Amino acid sequence: MGKTPIPLDVLAAEVAQCRKCPLCEGRTQTVFGDGNPDARVLIIGEAPGKNEDLQGIPFVGKAGQNLNQLLEIAGLAREDVFIANVLKCRPPGNRDPRPEEIELCTPFLREQTRTINPEFIVTLGNFATKFVLKTDRGITRLHGTLQQAGRFKVFPIYHPAAAIYDRSKWEALENDFATLGELLRK
Ligand code: SF4
Repeated sequence: MGKTPIPLDVLAAEVAQCRKCPLCEGRTQTVFGDGNPDARVLIIGEAPGKNEDLQGIPFVGKAGQNLNQLLEIAGLAREDVFIANVLKCRPPGNRDPRPEEIELCTPFLREQTRTINPEFIVTLGNFATKFVLKTDRGITRLHGTLQQAGRFKVFPIYHPAAAIYDRSKWEALENDFATLGELLRK
């Protein structure tokens, strides 16, 4: 028999105390994740940005506005899904997560996933996708394709922040969220 899942509030309290990697030094607060604890869809992004670090909630800046619009295309609202990140603390200047930070932080994400036990995991961008699928294949090749990791259906999509700097990504994001909606209705 598997381990009993750890309640999300217990995990969130552990994360709030965590000092396992140097990112704890620069944070305003940890960003555990937010949403429906019984969600059918778990969305995994990269790491908190400036606004997320200030508010303690994932995807609240421009990328968050983009994500809300995209969720609507899939027929989802924020309250339907749970949103978390690979890292729980903001990397300085929004630099990329480092391998050692990912290694130290992702046991929290694994436990969150076990507790929420979603049917679908939507990975946003390269870091979440490579971590969940244990692959070196990049998001450009994998986005919009249904994958499997253990018992979870995994659907990689570009990170919504990508469309802030490159509007050509927006069409791909819209198409992929529309496909996600179709998969959810099946
Ligand atoms: S990023 Fe993760 S491992 Fe590092 S201090 Fe924050 S919660 Fe702990």
